[in-house]
Amino acid sequence: MRIEDAQEMMREVYWDRDRKRGIKGTLQRTREELVELGDAILEMEGSKEIEEEIADVFAWLCSLANLLDIDVAEAFYNKYPDTCSKCKQCPCICPDE
Ligand SMILES: [Mg+2]
Ligand SMILES: [Zn+2]
Repeated sequence: MRIEDAQEMMREVYWDRDRKRGIKGTLQRTREELVELGDAILEMEGSKEIEEEIADVFAWLCSLANLLDIDVAEAFYNKYPDTCSKCKQCPCICPDE
């Protein structure tokens, strides 16, 4: 599935609920899902659980982008046009952090 299709699917399935919850509430849920993903990784849960949390984070990010009227695929490609966003190279040649 393409990023734009995933975002559109989230809009079709959840737009009414997302709109009622609003940006701040949806941001809070997105943060909670990121914490759940972090916990799943750090607690070495099974790959199935980690996959599900990755999906949750992406799903909530799409809902948040829908509320903010941001096209995720476009935003991503504008910042990461097949190269590193900082050094503009592929692969990245930035100094290690
Ligand atoms: Mg979750
Ligand atoms: Zn780089």
